[in-house]
Amino acid sequence: MSVGLLSSLSDAISGGSDGDDDVFSYQCASCGTEFDLPKTRMVGVRCPDCRSMDVRDADER
Ligand SMILES: [Zn+2]
Repeated sequence: MSVGLLSSLSDAISGGSDGDDDVFSYQCASCGTEFDLPKTRMVGVRCPDCRSMDVRDADER
């Protein structure tokens, strides 16, 4: 079994080994504002515009 291949797959799934500036795109369900936040802050995400917590993943189309 190739460890290198497994490592490459893992990197592809997580979006790279150095994900420090990885951001996640959100769209507010209330006002439609789109914004990006680091993936590490996925908990308790609020819309910067109207403060709604009803936001969704803007990357899913
Ligand atoms: Zn909003």
